[in-house]
Amino acid sequence: MSDRKDLLRRLMRDLGLGETVQSLVAGQLRDGAGGAVLLEDPYAQIELARYADCGAALSAEACEAAAAAQKEWVAGHSAAKRGDVMQDIARAVLDHHETLARLEALVAGKPIRDCRVEVAKVAEMFRYYAGWADKLHGEVIPVPSGHLNYTLREPLGVVFQITPWNAPIFTAGWQIAPAIATGNGVVIKPSELTPLTTVALVRIAEGAGLPKGLVNVLCGLGPTTGQAAIDHDAVRKVIFVGSPETGRRVAVAAAQALKPAVLELGGKSANIVFDDANLKHAALGAQAAIFSGAGQSCVAGSRLLVHQSVHAELTDMIAAGMNGITLGDPLDEATEVGPISNGRQFSHVSAMIDGARNEGAKVRSRDTTPDTGYFVPPTLLSGLESRATAAQTEIFGPVVTAIPFADEEEAIAIANDTSFGLAGAVWTADVGRAHRVASAVRAGTFWVNSYKAIHVSSPFGGSLNSGFGRSSGSDALMEYTSPKSIWLDSGKTPMIGFGYVS
Ligand code: NAD
Repeated sequence: MSDRKDLLRRLMRDLGLGETVQSLVAGQLRDGAGGAVLLEDPYAQIELARYADCGAALSAEACEAAAAAQKEWVAGHSAAKRGDVMQDIARAVLDHHETLARLEALVAGKPIRDCRVEVAKVAEMFRYYAGWADKLHGEVIPVPSGHLNYTLREPLGVVFQITPWNAPIFTAGWQIAPAIATGNGVVIKPSELTPLTTVALVRIAEGAGLPKGLVNVLCGLGPTTGQAAIDHDAVRKVIFVGSPETGRRVAVAAAQALKPAVLELGGKSANIVFDDANLKHAALGAQAAIFSGAGQSCVAGSRLLVHQSVHAELTDMIAAGMNGITLGDPLDEATEVGPISNGRQFSHVSAMIDGARNEGAKVRSRDTTPDTGYFVPPTLLSGLESRATAAQTEIFGPVVTAIPFADEEEAIAIANDTSFGLAGAVWTADVGRAHRVASAVRAGTFWVNSYKAIHVSSPFGGSLNSGFGRSSGSDALMEYTSPKSIWLDSGKTPMIGFGYVS
C-alpha cells in the first residue's frame, strides 16, 4: 500500500503543497502547533499522513491576514478586476482538474468520476460569481421627503467558513467564490479529515492572481482551531456546513461573540413515489438519491415514501438494483460507489443498521462488498413506522428507509414528519399533484421526477434542523454583504426636531 502514500506525495507536489499537511496563511504554507491529526485512506485503510493541528495562534494570524488583504482587495481592485481574477481562477482550476480530482478521490474515498464532476463545478462556481462581481449594487428608495435615499451593498469584512468531509473541494468553492466576489476576506477550516484539496484550491487561486492572504486555510480541529477563529475580532460572520450537533455548538459560540451565522446542516429528505410514476425512472432515481456518494450527501433521499399499491414492486426493483452497483477503489475508473469516508462514520452507519434491525426492520442489503475499505453495503429498510429511529435520524450512509402511504395527504404528512427541512422529491405523471406536493413539503430544494440536480445559480439551504440562510445563487450575495442606507438632504427640507422624515 506504500504506492498510495507515494501517490499522495506526488499529487501534493504537483499541486504545490509541502511534504506534510500544512495550513495556508498569508500565502505561506505553515505547520500547526497543536496535537496530532491523522489522515487516513478510507479504501486502503492505511495512515496516509499525520499532521499537527493548526492551533489558536496560527488561526489568529490567518484572521489578521484576511483582514489586511480584504481592505486591499476592495480598495486596490475595481469590481470588474475582481471578476477578472476569479475568471482566471476558474481556468486555473480546470488546468489542475485531474490532479485535484485524484487527490480528492484518494483522501475522501469518493469515486474519481464524481470528483471530476465536482472539480469542474468548482471552476463553474468561480466563473458564475466572477460575473456577479461588478453587477452588485444597491438601490434608490423613493422616501416620502425632500431626501434622496440610496443603499450600498458592502462586504462584511472577514468571514469564517467551516466545511465537512463529504464534498470538500466542492463545498470550499461553493463558499469561497461568493465571499470573494462580494469583496470579503476568507478564513476557511475544512474538515480535519479532508483538508488537502481546499489548501490546493487556494494555492492554485493564488497562482492565478488571488492576492495572498485574502483566503486562508486552517488545517485543524474544530474545538481548537475553529473556536479561535469564531472568537477573533476580525471575523464578522460564521458560515458552517456540517452536522446539526456541531452546527448548534458553532451557532452558540458565534452568538456569544454576537456574530451572525449561516448553518447548512443535515437532512432526512423524502423521496415520494406515486403509483402513476414511471417506476423504472423512479427506481433509478431512488438509487442515485441514496447510494451515490455512499449516501454521504446532505440531500440524500434517505426516506423513500411509496404508494402502497406499488411499494412491493418498487422496493424489489431497488433491492435488485443494489447488486448491479460497482463498488470499489475510488481511484478506479469503473467505481460507482466508494467506501464510507472515515472510520467514525462507518461505525455510525453500521450501528444504525443494527439498530433498525433491532427495531424490527426488514433489512435487505447488497450481497457483497470489497475486501478492503470502510464499505457499508447499499441497504434498504422496510417495515418501520415513520417515527422509528432509522426513519428519523440522519444516517449519512447508503441506507434508505421505505415507507408506504395510502394517498397524497398521507404522503405529505409523512414527508413533513421530520425535524429536518432540506430537500425532497416527487415522482408522478400528474403535473397538478407535482405542484401541490412541491409546495406542501417543507424543503429548501425540491425535485419533480428527478433527484439531486443542483446548480450554483440556484439558491440552496434548509430550515429547522437543516439550518438557516442560503448559499449559492444571488441569495448568497445577500449573505455575504450588508446594506448601508445613505440619506442626502435636498436642502429644501427644513431641519426639524430630531430629523424624522414625514
Ligand atoms: P461535523 O459537524 O462533524 O463537522 C463539520 C465541521 O465542523 C468540520 O470542519 C469540523 O472540524 C468542524 N467542527 C467540529 N467542532 C467544531 C467546533 N467546536 N467549532 C468549530 N468547528 C467545529 O460534520 P461532518 O461529519 O464533517 O459532515 C457531515 C454532516 O455535514 C452531515 O450532517 C451532513 O448532512 C452535513 N452536510 C450539510 C450540507 C448542507 O449544505 N446542508 C452539505 C454537506 C454536509
